[in-house]
Amino acid sequence: MRFTIGNSTLELIRGNIVEQDVDVIVNAANETLAPGGGVSGAIHRAAGPELAEECARIGGCPTGEARITAGYRLKARHVIHAVGPRYSGSPRDAELLASAYRSSLLLAARHGLQSIAFPSISTGIYGYPLDEAAPIALATCRDVLQSHPEIALVRFVLFDEETFRSYERAAQRIGLAPARE
Ligand code: ADP
Repeated sequence: MRFTIGNSTLELIRGNIVEQDVDVIVNAANETLAPGGGVSGAIHRAAGPELAEECARIGGCPTGEARITAGYRLKARHVIHAVGPRYSGSPRDAELLASAYRSSLLLAARHGLQSIAFPSISTGIYGYPLDEAAPIALATCRDVLQSHPEIALVRFVLFDEETFRSYERAAQRIGLAPARE
């Protein structure tokens, strides 16, 4: 499913982020930047041990921010490690989640990267309710793309059917414009 935002495309697909052939894939990281479970474990396994070594040299990343590394054995040349919030039920959760997406996109733009793939940050181990997280993720990307048309493609790579459906509903709810095929 594809949407048009200015000159850019926002895409929702079901799949595995590790396999994406884009300039940069985003990891749902934790503040230590050490390999974890979920999508982080999959990315680190596919990239090889050099990725964890580079992350260790960076030394950590506060919640709501992002850091960039090389992609090593991945198809993507880079990985952006974004730290989403652990869901707590406070209004701050939404701000931090939006900030994790925004920071990732601004970092990609600053490095001249034109295509970026995101997983659904915080909705796995970090427990963020899917139907709350999805519209925040999509609306934040839409807002950043409006001022950064140099990012040509934002692809959400959603691992399971439930997550994919939730993002589809959210896209409709926030009124994204379907791309003309
Ligand atoms: P968090 O700690 O931020 O919640 P998780 O890795 O636990 O991060 O989960 C985030 C989302 O990533 C979940 O929807 C999970 O199903 C999904 N996920 C897990 N593995 C992959 C993968 N290989 N590609 C894309 N998404 C994945």
